[in-house]
Amino acid sequence: MERDNQWPLFRLVIPAFPEVNIFSRVARKTTALGPVMVATAASKLWGWRVEVIDENNCTGAPLDESGLPDHRTLQAERPAEVVGFYCGLSSTIDRVWRLAAFYRAEGATTIAGGWHTHYAPEESLRKGIDIVVHGDGEMVIRRVLELIKDGEPLGHVPGISFLDDQDACKTNPSEMQDEKHLSSLPYPDFGLIRFAKIKIYPIGRIRGCSRKCEFCSVKGKPRWASAQFLFDQVQWLVETRKARSFFIVDDRMEEDRQGALFFFEKIAQTYGRSLDFTVQARLEAAEDGELLAAMKRAGVSVTCIGYESPIDDELQAMRKGYGSRDMLRWTNIYHHHGFFIHAMFIWGYPSNNMSELRLKAQERSRRFHSFIRQAHLDTVQILRAIPLIGTELRARLEQGNRIFPLETVPWEKYDGNYVCFQPDDMSLRELQDMPTKLMKKFYDPLSFMRIALKIVAFPIHYLVRGWDSWHRGWRNDLKKYGGHLFIKRWLKRYHKDNFIEKLEKTHLLQD
Ligand code: SF4
Repeated sequence: MERDNQWPLFRLVIPAFPEVNIFSRVARKTTALGPVMVATAASKLWGWRVEVIDENNCTGAPLDESGLPDHRTLQAERPAEVVGFYCGLSSTIDRVWRLAAFYRAEGATTIAGGWHTHYAPEESLRKGIDIVVHGDGEMVIRRVLELIKDGEPLGHVPGISFLDDQDACKTNPSEMQDEKHLSSLPYPDFGLIRFAKIKIYPIGRIRGCSRKCEFCSVKGKPRWASAQFLFDQVQWLVETRKARSFFIVDDRMEEDRQGALFFFEKIAQTYGRSLDFTVQARLEAAEDGELLAAMKRAGVSVTCIGYESPIDDELQAMRKGYGSRDMLRWTNIYHHHGFFIHAMFIWGYPSNNMSELRLKAQERSRRFHSFIRQAHLDTVQILRAIPLIGTELRARLEQGNRIFPLETVPWEKYDGNYVCFQPDDMSLRELQDMPTKLMKKFYDPLSFMRIALKIVAFPIHYLVRGWDSWHRGWRNDLKKYGGHLFIKRWLKRYHKDNFIEKLEKTHLLQD
């Protein structure tokens, strides 16, 4: 196994998005935490070298003819014996399969982990992946690498799927890490990522979620590392990497409210507001004034909130857990505390009651637009409903035979920018086009002129209404113009593909 007296190499690949999307820009400044945690755990093993290639943040890497990292050159320069793939996003799974086929042909063992392969291990095992890892990957990867190094069979390792001698998919039950284990994991070592420039450091401590949103693939009883562990991570990253900006990836930081309060208070006592945090929170957390105040004191600037929809029927179908009545009031509370809100919406959520009197698409669009305007949201993202693998939404649509086959709408279209299922209350075109129209209204080109006007008017605005008011308007217009350019670029490519025309032709649809 050892080559030229060197330790074998484990390379972990975070696959490229299939096309430019709303996350592409920020992805060039950050990375995915899960694979870095797994790589860090593996790097503590005596006898293995470890590196991570994040294809979405990869300046200076050798590129192939399609502009993506050239794995042939990477493998020639520094051959990996084991290659792991992060499969958290269905839209990147086709890229994983292409790379897995290449690495397997090179003689490497291929491993996959993440939500997509967790729910559909066999599919990837038949596309070039040797082992699928389920659940917390930190411990499993260590056992797998140790056994591979010793040339031992892997069949008994808990938490893996593989094809057995009869070519049947076999899955061993997972061992979940308890809270003590989560708090004793090593800090994420971002130094393992080659070619990446990390400006926003992802950190986190909570796994699983106690809510049951129908469209979400995050499942399992929530477990968390201690808040002290999260604080220690921040301190270590500040000291060793001069980190200033963090994204707390926990889906619901309120899951452990006491821990969240402890963490933000400790950050405020140690750093004041000199660090910058982006968090994900539920909208109704606005009722928790103590938590919001602690967040503000600690330097939280942006809250990413899954609004999903301003329409009660849709919120109910999603099992979001609240209605639209308080949404504006909660939004105002967040704004009152000075947070920027990045609001995430789902367009065209399919009804679970066909007999219900449903709103026309135009009326739905009007309600979305009116809510976004009234709420003064800072940035918005409106994606089409995605029947993600492993979700109850997908199971429901499959039962109704409404999901388009993968030959027509492949996994790479599962990024929220494309229709993936047959709607029952609007046309295919309405499902496809209306979110883009809503986004175009929000990210309008006139924002460019407003940026210039705001700069000219700065002294007066600053004197009359203060820095915060001026900065919010200026920053939001900057974001709006950036969003406008992104939509323009995306539409250019989209129109070339004739996606919706082909889909309509194939399915002879109702519009
Ligand atoms: S959408 Fe958020 S709150 Fe709902 S189940 Fe998923 S992680 Fe939990």
